[in-house]
Amino acid sequence: MAKSSVLGYPRIGQNREWKKALEAFWAGKLDESTFQSQLQELRLNHLRKQQEKGIDFIAVNDFSYYDHVLDTATMFGVIPSRFPYEGGVVPLSLYYGIARGTKDATASEMTKWFNTNYHYIVPELGGTEPVVTENKPLIAYREAKEKLGIEGKPVILGPLTFLKLSKGYKLEETDAWLARFVPLYVQILQELAEEGVQWVQIDEPILVTELGGDDIARLKKIYETFASAVPHLNILLQTYFESVEHYNDIVQLPVQGIGLDFVHGLAGNLKSIQESGFPADKFLGAGIIDGRGIWKADLREKLGLLEVLSKIVAEDRLLVQTSCSLLHVPVTVKNETKLLPELKDALAFADEKLDEIALLTKAVVDGADSISDALARCDKELLGLKQSSERNRKDVQQTVATISAQHPERSRSFADRHIAQQDKWQLPIFPTTTIGSFPQSAEVRKARQLWRKGDWTPEQYASFIRDQIDIWIKLQEEIGLDVLVHGEFERTDMVEFFGEKLAGFAFTLFGWVQSYGSRCVKPPIIFGDVAFEEAMTVEETKYAQSKTERPVKGMLTGPITIMNWSFVREDITREQIAYQLAYALRQEVEALEQAGIGMIQVDEPAVREGLPLKAEDQAAYLAWAVKAFRMTTCTVQETTQIHTHMCYCEFHDMIDSIEAMDADVISIETSRSHGELIHSFEQNTYELGIGLGVYDIHSPRVPQVEEMTGMIDRALRVLDPNLFWINPDCGLKTRGLEETVESLRNMVEATQIARGKYSA
Ligand code: GLN
Ligand code: ZN
Repeated sequence: MAKSSVLGYPRIGQNREWKKALEAFWAGKLDESTFQSQLQELRLNHLRKQQEKGIDFIAVNDFSYYDHVLDTATMFGVIPSRFPYEGGVVPLSLYYGIARGTKDATASEMTKWFNTNYHYIVPELGGTEPVVTENKPLIAYREAKEKLGIEGKPVILGPLTFLKLSKGYKLEETDAWLARFVPLYVQILQELAEEGVQWVQIDEPILVTELGGDDIARLKKIYETFASAVPHLNILLQTYFESVEHYNDIVQLPVQGIGLDFVHGLAGNLKSIQESGFPADKFLGAGIIDGRGIWKADLREKLGLLEVLSKIVAEDRLLVQTSCSLLHVPVTVKNETKLLPELKDALAFADEKLDEIALLTKAVVDGADSISDALARCDKELLGLKQSSERNRKDVQQTVATISAQHPERSRSFADRHIAQQDKWQLPIFPTTTIGSFPQSAEVRKARQLWRKGDWTPEQYASFIRDQIDIWIKLQEEIGLDVLVHGEFERTDMVEFFGEKLAGFAFTLFGWVQSYGSRCVKPPIIFGDVAFEEAMTVEETKYAQSKTERPVKGMLTGPITIMNWSFVREDITREQIAYQLAYALRQEVEALEQAGIGMIQVDEPAVREGLPLKAEDQAAYLAWAVKAFRMTTCTVQETTQIHTHMCYCEFHDMIDSIEAMDADVISIETSRSHGELIHSFEQNTYELGIGLGVYDIHSPRVPQVEEMTGMIDRALRVLDPNLFWINPDCGLKTRGLEETVESLRNMVEATQIARGKYSA
């Protein structure tokens, strides 16, 4: 009989209880034992839900106190050497110290979990010698069994993926490190086997990326070692987020089950399994319910897919499961009372996905007729959204089709624009500017709350915002910046602000997902055709410009960033969505220009993170991402200066695409990447305006003039002084007023020194 299986459940709780508990504990408002019992209650509650829905293979050890990669590292005693540690079970204070830093030691680095918006703590090898400090999967298994009678399926992050995500070792030491970790995994697995555990899920998402022959050999060795150490423990080797490379090698590994993603890796995995078959002695974990998307599954289509699979795999070897852990979706649609009914009916968050898994499993076992009511309901709900007016804006669709058929191009080349813009703006060499936002003080947040609650009229709020703009225009002039900004006081979030004003977006009340640690985000939902309705930023920008002779930069979030930080519809391609957004934002760019704003920045910090996992898909993505940016910005006059901004990650492998965006000026983060970006300009020329962030805004520390002078000198070894701008790394929203003013003053002083040196 086919069985249902879930790869992991969200930690945060329906009302973000998890976040609240963590933060209260960190603030010292919750003692450790209360904290522990609150988290246990949540954990058990999550298991209970799955039990009630009749899920056969429920994941345990998917719960975490911060991050599952950090859990794996601390389970193996992998502690960075800057933290004091004497061995044994890692106490919570140390665990959170690694994640968040202490007064004596900086936190470990955090980075994106594959192509999701979840961030994990990067394990640092090379400190203490790895040992098993405690068997976390076993503890989780026992708890589920004792408290709820659940025969859980412990989840463990696999050794190859763990090692590949870690840092602190050289590539040629890979085998030596594996030789240290594999026996520890064996110990964990043996203890699980002795306990009577039936199945373990070993996650190896690294198998969807390109691996070398060495890695395949390593994989064989690892899983052969496991097979001989625990011959009676069933191992489900789980992959997700894409199709597996090296399918034939992977399905031959000596494990009892292979989990494949038939949502995000559908084409590739289906092709492999159809062409090469599937070993008769293994279970197939068929990941057919999207663990990352928010939409209801088309149950008929999924049944069709299961039918195809059940011709290749015997029914009693089939696991109907989520494509990945449900960590990436919100908890439940149930409490969303503010959504359009046709939208709400088409959504499935974690709890609703449990139902889908249970239904599909039943259909496989008892036949499709056994779920005919559910199928009919599903048809109706999906049709409702399909036919909604929001999805059928013919005007938008036609215009976007016409525009996106053209090549978006500015009227003049950069070289010509540069001359015209210099002529118009008369900026000094090394113009100084900031990235857009200024500190959002408690006062600003309070004002927004008062207005949102209705205690303040919109006019009261607008006047408060104007006062903030006044203050900061004066400050910027005093500091001596050349290109000013209005400060973004009216925005909480750079995506939400635009989403609330554009057609085609919806906002949930409780649709939170974990981004990193206790930080959760509530992404907007792009569910309809995106359209411009009225000017979104003109008023504040125009007001700011009226207060100064110096140029004020308009500030927009770009199409790719808005898309990558939202949940998006799936009936049209991401490329099409990007073009709809681009067209809508273009109208804002034009409105700003008409209002007399001559410099407009279109932020694209999230371009890099939308990059597909498979190298072969990356060029196409970058091509349409660049095109969407150009569509947004190409219709302005030659003297209108288009700026963009990027931050958060490594850009050195996409300099060509950045250049192809054809922005007159880009400001880009460098100070955290320790000059790697500068290094890449040694190999690639960059011949448009560019400002490399000269200080890290993520720290409250005020940077000294000399540090910034050093950064500037280093950059000018490879970049043209006539195209070089000076600015911080990113927006200053999270900083305090005094440190910001002081830092910017130092930045201007460093600029003056540079001007003296270079403008001979
Ligand atoms: N303009 C935005 C700001 O300054 C950019 C933010 C970002 O890059 N994430 O806040
Ligand atoms: Zn930034």
